[in-house]
Amino acid sequence: MTVSYPRPRKALGQNFLTDGNIVAKILRAADIGPGDNVLEVGPGRGALTELLARKAGRVTAIEFDRDLAEILRQRFRDTPAVTIHEQDVLKVDFASLLGNERWKVVANLPYNISTPVLFRFLEERHCFSRLVLMLQKEVGERLAAPPDCGDYGIVTVLLGLWFEIRREFPVPPGCFYPVPRVDSVVVSLVPRPQPLAPVPDQQLFERVVRAAFAQRRKTLHNCLKAAGLADPATLARALEHCGIDGRRRGETLTIAEFAALATGLAAPAA
Ligand code: SAM
Repeated sequence: MTVSYPRPRKALGQNFLTDGNIVAKILRAADIGPGDNVLEVGPGRGALTELLARKAGRVTAIEFDRDLAEILRQRFRDTPAVTIHEQDVLKVDFASLLGNERWKVVANLPYNISTPVLFRFLEERHCFSRLVLMLQKEVGERLAAPPDCGDYGIVTVLLGLWFEIRREFPVPPGCFYPVPRVDSVVVSLVPRPQPLAPVPDQQLFERVVRAAFAQRRKTLHNCLKAAGLADPATLARALEHCGIDGRRRGETLTIAEFAALATGLAAPAA
């Protein structure tokens, strides 16, 4: 049966995968088998969903576009393992949608909202066993960046604390319709059983990281002072206790150093 698709909607980041080899490589990176429950975000025209339906035990897909969700519902109406939800991934309650089991996530994300979606995955990390995501190259590189380089930033540190992140393979623009103006990359994220380093107060950790990157040219000490995170004495004591020179720039700190600093700032004065 030929399906008449609506025109791709740029506002929804609709660039559909047209290259079957890339689809197969994504599923291999996610190591999908019959024992897996898979959440797909933004199934679109179903390029990934089709293969997932054949390989996975169960597929739950969240699509915001009403027309595409309806087309997919029709297409998979005789495949009970596939469920299509017309929902906004930024608003969905993962725990009630997915229950207590751990799910794999496979997604070619809408690039315009990929960073907020990554933060949703971070918040709800206990729901997932592995995430394999197609991202705009720049976002993927930020995720996997080492300290002291331009790509290393808030996303790298906040997600790196809780996920083991690996850059899988690049994907050129010609693998999509319509052809995007940017390059893409597939990245995998595996939740760590424990954070990379102990963080007693997650909120404070986030505030420290955001403050440290707020003004990249300023020293760490001045960034933290400007954010009003602690009085000068506490700040000096915490930096000294962690052996971190406050004259360094935030982007030179490793994730473990950020964790130690947040821990030092949380500790009451001796
Ligand atoms: N998975 C398909 C593929 O690889 O060909 C489509 C990927 S396309 C880059 C992104 C998809 O996410 C589109 O189908 C778009 O409608 C959907 N989408 C956009 N915003 C969304 C949102 N907030 N929640 C759920 N899906 C969304």
